[in-house]
Amino acid sequence: MAHVSFDGGTVPLEDVQENPGQYARRLERAKITPGFALCLCKPANANLRLVIRRYRSLFHLAGWPDDGHRHAPGCGFYKDPNRRPLPGGDDPKAAIVATPAGLNIKLDVSLTQRDVRASAGITTPPGGTRAGRRSATLLAFLQTLWASAGLHCWNGLGTTRHWGLCNAQLLAELGDAVVNGRGAQDVLHVMRRYQEADRAAINAEFDAFVAGLTNGSGAVRRGVLIGEVAEVTPTQYGHSLVLRQNPRKYYASPALFDHAAKTWPHAWKALGDRAARIVAALLVEKTVKGHLRIVNLALMLCSSAYVPCDSIHEVSMANRLVSEYRSFEKQMRLADGDDMLPDFVLRDTEPRTHIEVYGMNGVASYEERKAEKRELRRQRGIPAVEWDVDRTELSAVTLPEPVHRRAASLTSSQTA
Ligand SMILES: [Zn+2]
Repeated sequence: MAHVSFDGGTVPLEDVQENPGQYARRLERAKITPGFALCLCKPANANLRLVIRRYRSLFHLAGWPDDGHRHAPGCGFYKDPNRRPLPGGDDPKAAIVATPAGLNIKLDVSLTQRDVRASAGITTPPGGTRAGRRSATLLAFLQTLWASAGLHCWNGLGTTRHWGLCNAQLLAELGDAVVNGRGAQDVLHVMRRYQEADRAAINAEFDAFVAGLTNGSGAVRRGVLIGEVAEVTPTQYGHSLVLRQNPRKYYASPALFDHAAKTWPHAWKALGDRAARIVAALLVEKTVKGHLRIVNLALMLCSSAYVPCDSIHEVSMANRLVSEYRSFEKQMRLADGDDMLPDFVLRDTEPRTHIEVYGMNGVASYEERKAEKRELRRQRGIPAVEWDVDRTELSAVTLPEPVHRRAASLTSSQTA
């Protein structure tokens, strides 16, 4: 397990990420002097510095800018030099721009509303049409944030990932992020993992976020919540949604949930499925009575280790890959033209193996793309595993042995 060192001590990285409250004082001291922490994933003389970022009252460790490739491949701060850059790249007009201080995001939803009566309903003007800079949908924001925090990758070392770890990696990536010109710390709340020991601090932090949502003198100030959906229940007037990390209810109109069910059918159908998780970005505002109303939302289907997936079959595949300690990446479709990407890439074979999960057999456009992708892989000599969900059980799909296991079995057969 990777260790980090700061404030005169060495601790497991995961412990810091899952218990940020316990390390707040020590990280605060280290942020002042020497101003950084160290990652010990490589021999001591490698001297890999980590940025200590403050997000409200807590501190999170992030990789040093442009240093990701220097970490050991299993390290949480490792960034694959071959990984695809974020859409937008250096384009200053992109909706989401990575800066040294954190992300700068322009959402296509309004965070303030002057006229309360006009605020109901779904407000999704098409991205890219506003003067100057483009803007991102809540889903594009959620997916890009997930990818920039490296949560679409699995390093094959463990078999679980808790929400606490996701929270730490998301906040480290956000840093001093700016959302629609405002500090993310004021308008964006990533739910904390619930821990009895930190209950007071966790609740106080959430209450402070809610208190910042105001509804008075004709203006509404909204905020974005990111968390895992626990349940959606019909109510007298619509639906209520509860996030796993906090018992508070968020209310929405039937129209908004109809929209969600149609827009993200795979995530919607997986509600209540214990093999899957659904991460939500909720744009919320406070009603005059003090309830929290969802004005807009995005749902992202994930595997049980929070790897984003495009279908419930991909969830099964991702869960299997995690349980078999495979190192892999979910290829997230973040830009136009990304539909030629494979579903997953196994990173522990040489060369890397593409994994395709095929549903929707017989749909002409889908079959055509399938054939195109096969041809591209053939030309480039890329090995692939194809799982046709209509014909085969997942357990019958054969995956290539990872390089390290093959090497180990070669060594043992030589010495035998
Ligand atoms: Zn490292």
